[in-house]
Amino acid sequence: MADAFFQPISGMELPRFAGIPTFMRLPHVPEDHPRAGDVQIGLIGLPWDGGVSNRPGPRHGPRQLRDASTMIRAQHAVTGLRPFEVANCADLGDVGPNPVDNPDTLARFERAFAALKARGVRPLIAGGDHLCTLPVLRGIAKDAPLGLVHFDSHTDLFPAYFGGKTLTHGNPFRAAVDEGLLDPKRMIQIGIRGTMYDSIDRDFAEEHGIRIVTIEEFFDRGVRDVMAEARSIVGDKPAYMSYDIDFIDPSVAPGTGTPEWGGPNAYQAMQVVRECAGLNIVAADLVEVSPPFDPSGGTAWLGASLMFEMLCVMAAAL
Ligand code: MN
Ligand code: MN
Repeated sequence: MADAFFQPISGMELPRFAGIPTFMRLPHVPEDHPRAGDVQIGLIGLPWDGGVSNRPGPRHGPRQLRDASTMIRAQHAVTGLRPFEVANCADLGDVGPNPVDNPDTLARFERAFAALKARGVRPLIAGGDHLCTLPVLRGIAKDAPLGLVHFDSHTDLFPAYFGGKTLTHGNPFRAAVDEGLLDPKRMIQIGIRGTMYDSIDRDFAEEHGIRIVTIEEFFDRGVRDVMAEARSIVGDKPAYMSYDIDFIDPSVAPGTGTPEWGGPNAYQAMQVVRECAGLNIVAADLVEVSPPFDPSGGTAWLGASLMFEMLCVMAAAL
């Protein structure tokens, strides 16, 4: 049943430090490749951080995540799932941004994801900053709004910064709700913490029925209880998973632009994704990994491990 072409290179055949580092050592299958039509889950990079409002760097995320992901093996340790045998997975490469023109980049990303949707490919994205999520949703969710499981220390529901209508990594989900790309009644945001400008983002959530689980509630109730609620809110209709690496405590994942203390440890960070099993996740992203703030490479390694957890949920949902 497993398609030999789509199997990753095993560390028992070629050492993990050797070869060209594609995501999880999968084949590189650009759109003009003869096997492009057989890809079911496409791992794809968005090397862009034009939405960052503070410390830049996530444009370097996809390359660092690819390198770290060469340490991923083929079988999930807890579930036993071998995702590369149940789904044809490939590294699709990056969508090229225009680093000096945000509207042009947003349009390029939207076109690329609309084309993937037309081909029936489910994307697993490595960012990039969190504004990357908006053009992805514009590309795949215009005909039917998606549910959302969102891990982050921030709601990203703020109005435009600096006046005007500026899009940043602080407002992709507000824009997505306003544009009808997400169903706010099927949205849950988990891990929210840190000092606040004011309550304007929380007010938007309350007004639209978006469920926010603060980090205090998360730790009071525990992972399993919170994630059971997440599954019931999102339901079994198509949904998106968006994972901002700053969800995790900065003692564990310091390589990000807007860290907030008092977050989950690495085990809990992976467990929350595992607990999404059964959801119909049609697309997912891991964003805000910033290699300039990650000298040990540990944040990228945790990010790559999270991408494997996400891939397992997506493969099981096919
Ligand atoms: Mn964040
Ligand atoms: Mn975010």
